[in-house]
Amino acid sequence: MKNHMGKGFETGQMIPQSGNYAVFHKPHLLQPEVALLQQHAFPACAKCVVPVHFDLLHAVRAESARDKFRLLMHTHN
Ligand SMILES: [Zn+2]
Repeated sequence: MKNHMGKGFETGQMIPQSGNYAVFHKPHLLQPEVALLQQHAFPACAKCVVPVHFDLLHAVRAESARDKFRLLMHTHN
């Protein structure tokens, strides 16, 4: 519930829209951008427990996203 650049998301929240998200994570250098599918949880860092922050860059329709995108980081539920 922090005000963080308007509409940021973080690890564990539900992904509201499929698309490309900018990745912000101070402790480690992760890929700067990631493609994520809606109705999954935003992924965690594989190396630490500090939440990763995401900002939506470009939304993609679910049906095309399913064909083109894979989760690039593991989710931890
Ligand atoms: Zn990390």
